[in-house]
Amino acid sequence: MNNNSFAVTEPVARLIDEFSKLPGIGPKSAQRLTFYLIRMPYDQAQALAEAMLAVKERITFCQRCQNITEFNPCTICNNPRRDSSRICVVVEPLDALAIERTNAYKGLYHVLHGVISPMNNVGPSELRIAQLLDRIREEEVSEVILATNPSLEGEATAMYIHRLLGGLVPQVTRLARGLPAGGDLEYADDVTLTRALEGRQEF
Ligand code: ZN
Repeated sequence: MNNNSFAVTEPVARLIDEFSKLPGIGPKSAQRLTFYLIRMPYDQAQALAEAMLAVKERITFCQRCQNITEFNPCTICNNPRRDSSRICVVVEPLDALAIERTNAYKGLYHVLHGVISPMNNVGPSELRIAQLLDRIREEEVSEVILATNPSLEGEATAMYIHRLLGGLVPQVTRLARGLPAGGDLEYADDVTLTRALEGRQEF
């Protein structure tokens, strides 16, 4: 940590260092957050620290779909009324939530936890792609729906997975166009998302 402006004491330097490990937080933002926290009422700082620990203690990844969950397997994977022959591959847990909101999909999910992004040093091995392939080999899957965002990275990630799936699944589909290009699935309105699901096309 470069602290050429003034010497900070150990706990301050340590917090700046911890903040700067977070995605999108540079040294400047890490300093700003640290000093904000120092001025914060004690109760509020404690609530923040406790909320962070509660998430780490109570939330885990579903062993089957990799979604975040308090129960393992998650309530979707564990629901016998869901169509387990379909897997909808999404980038983030919030994308699965957006699709759930539409009530138009009764299959299962697989959460990648990111997209392939050479610019941000994210390669395929950083995503939960290996777990997806394991699932497809072990489960009876008739359709994989690639529901990544219609962005450059989302498309590239879908193409990459599609290539790996060759021969493993009878049908691989992609959400229909109509989602705002470059937009995030999680912000799409229910009607648009339902149409994109219903109009999904063979990859
Ligand atoms: Zn699950």
